[in-house]
Amino acid sequence: MPYVHETLEALRRSSPAQTEFYQAAEEVLECLRPLFERSPHYLDQGIIERIVEPERQIMFRVCWTDDSGKVQVNKGYRVQFNSALGPYKGGLRFHPSVTSGTIKFLGFEQIFKNALTGLPIGGGKGGSDFDPKGRSDVEIMRFCQAFMSELYRHIGPTTDVPAGDIGVGAREIGFLYGQYKRLSGRYEGVLTGKSLNWGGSLGRKEATGYGAVYFAENMLEARGETLEGKTCLVSGAGNVAIYTIEKLYELGAIPITCSDSRGTLHHARGIDLALLKELKEVRRVSLAAYLETHPEAHYIPTRDYPNDGHAVWRLKGDVAFPCATQNELIEADAEALLGNGVTCISEGANMPSTAAAVDRFLAAKVAYGPGKAANAGGVATSQLEMAQNSSMQQWSLEKVDAKLKEVMTHIHCQCADTAAEFDDSTNLVLGANIAGFRKVADAMIEQGVV
Ligand code: GLU
Repeated sequence: MPYVHETLEALRRSSPAQTEFYQAAEEVLECLRPLFERSPHYLDQGIIERIVEPERQIMFRVCWTDDSGKVQVNKGYRVQFNSALGPYKGGLRFHPSVTSGTIKFLGFEQIFKNALTGLPIGGGKGGSDFDPKGRSDVEIMRFCQAFMSELYRHIGPTTDVPAGDIGVGAREIGFLYGQYKRLSGRYEGVLTGKSLNWGGSLGRKEATGYGAVYFAENMLEARGETLEGKTCLVSGAGNVAIYTIEKLYELGAIPITCSDSRGTLHHARGIDLALLKELKEVRRVSLAAYLETHPEAHYIPTRDYPNDGHAVWRLKGDVAFPCATQNELIEADAEALLGNGVTCISEGANMPSTAAAVDRFLAAKVAYGPGKAANAGGVATSQLEMAQNSSMQQWSLEKVDAKLKEVMTHIHCQCADTAAEFDDSTNLVLGANIAGFRKVADAMIEQGVV
């Protein structure tokens, strides 16, 4: 279909060097070919050209003073990608690797992810190239206040509701919220992932990880299997990885790895979750410190795998949970996982597998849950937080968790049913992209050319 090809070529010309964004756009558009053959009206309506172009992109300067008195300057971004289904919704990422292309790819993925939840939320994303690593709490506060000093005029509980992502957790959301309140004079649900003390939702912190595990359960159940007794490989050591590990233990599985930017931890008898939480949530130190308590565990420094994949994926496991970052799992990793007998991959991170790695998984017909489906539990629970804020209620953990489970099952059903509808029943990438796209595209058509 020349149309898809031309749209991708036009994107390359108009947005130079946004490689992660092309990667995300290419995957979605390639999956849509069979849909366009059956429903050419999407092409007549120019939906493809409209959906790859953000409705609005905000870029701003963030100036703040570090502890030594030096003025620091960072870039700030918010991409308001698509509001056909509801207010823009998506996290903020603070990481030195962040560029406008990173935020655009994340915002694009968010549109389809949010659509798959079935909840009324549009897609957006934001962030900064600010590196929180090694910064004091007061520096983090000053940075967050400076960032919000510009962002506050672009967001609101019915327009755009940011949340956390890599480098943005409850501490940062607190500082961002305080500054929003000071500048706007309003106490309202403008951010999610808030502290439980003042408007946060029970279960939000755990939701992305728990959701990725529920999604794996759904995929395995469709194949007559469960997670019980399965050895699991998890990458990352942030919020998503920690609560993936927690839920895996609850379901009788054995998570044996986690990783941070400096190295991979392999503990054959299972990761010590209490210690992991202590190292990452309280002390905020490198995973290498784990060996002080468990000298029998293995620590593999990242530098031993330069540009050649990731140590986590070279270990033997039944189920894999990539929960670190984009493109952390390359083709050689996929090959190693398949060679070691992996049967299920559920992505807690956004686009963690390269396009070539995804092709390997699909060709092998293992159970593969792409991030935009498998990690949607976080944003879904953010929407539950919005619902609680606007009705001035606080739901029980049981209620939130039951709803999260329901949403993950709903997403799995949509992906599987849509994949079957297009005669490729094991291909949940195809199912996720077509189901997510169709929901957004139909809303855009009904709302007219705006
Ligand atoms: N950053 C998360 C994601 O990638 C959560 C976004 C949200 O809760 O708004 O979906």
